[in-house]
Amino acid sequence: MFTRRTFLQQSGALLAGGLLLPGARPAPEATVMTVSGPLGAGKLGFTLTHEHVMVDFIGADQSSPDRYKADEVFNTALPFLRSARERGCTALVDCTPAYLGRNVQLLQRLAAASGLHIVSNTGYYGAAKEKYLPAHVHTATAEQLAARWIAEWKQGIEGTGIRPGFIKTGTDKAPLTPAQQKIIAAAAITHLATGLTIGVHTGNGEAAVEQLAILQKHGVRPSAKIWIHAQSEPDAAYHITAARQGGWVSFDGVSPSSVASHITCLQNMKREGLLKQVLVSHDAGWYHVGEPQGGNFRDYNCIFDTFIPAMRQHGFTQQEISTVFIENPARAFATGVRKQ
Ligand SMILES: [Zn+2]
Repeated sequence: MFTRRTFLQQSGALLAGGLLLPGARPAPEATVMTVSGPLGAGKLGFTLTHEHVMVDFIGADQSSPDRYKADEVFNTALPFLRSARERGCTALVDCTPAYLGRNVQLLQRLAAASGLHIVSNTGYYGAAKEKYLPAHVHTATAEQLAARWIAEWKQGIEGTGIRPGFIKTGTDKAPLTPAQQKIIAAAAITHLATGLTIGVHTGNGEAAVEQLAILQKHGVRPSAKIWIHAQSEPDAAYHITAARQGGWVSFDGVSPSSVASHITCLQNMKREGLLKQVLVSHDAGWYHVGEPQGGNFRDYNCIFDTFIPAMRQHGFTQQEISTVFIENPARAFATGVRKQ
């Protein structure tokens, strides 16, 4: 007998496997893959969608876990994560990719110790003039790169069994280089096989347009993509167009000095009725590998202490605040293939 329960179990399994039917929206029982395993998307709660625990800017050719002491990073980052947790944060998306200091075991330990749900990623970062791309990108095909990322989704990252919760890539400003075009194509192929959302560090609005064209050529819908660092594009028309197409627009540089400009970004989107496509975060943290004690670690508190009060002051309702920080992250990171 096909009961409601079996239906829910089966559809849950389908969603977890990334087999959401084309055209379907992520269902309430959709899941997000955290470093501690799958989680009902509705359980993410208040989510900081673009942060970093650790970053190593040495470059792909020298990047290695031998360059830092994981325990020292753990002890440095934990009080900052706890401080965000005390302020009502329940989930944090770590956007540090492979070859830039990604360490999923460290994130899993920090999730357990802080009580936060933490999400990590697969994929490569092609911005910063490709300094963080491993050499094999230049000889591999997009399909071969995607095969590596799909393997991380299926088997876990670097033998840990810990699985990525999204695809992290990046390009500089337009025009995209051949390698940058290739990793966006690889992200599209990976999305279709895994249902993982694609977050793209993006140099400017024209780059966002180019990326979307590549994704669409592969049959991926705009709603599968997060435009990371949208605040770097001063022309709000690009944000509005991207959101109208169904894409996610991430204003993720909130700091005490950028509260006003981020409020303006949100007001523009609200005026157009597009707050449901917006994500907001700090891009903070950053234990800097190679600097004494990790250098200056930026806290994750500004959104709670300053930005949300500023939103209220500017007339944003509690529902709109929940949309941006609770409902949108759950929809943006829910696993599910978004095929055209
Ligand atoms: Zn970042």
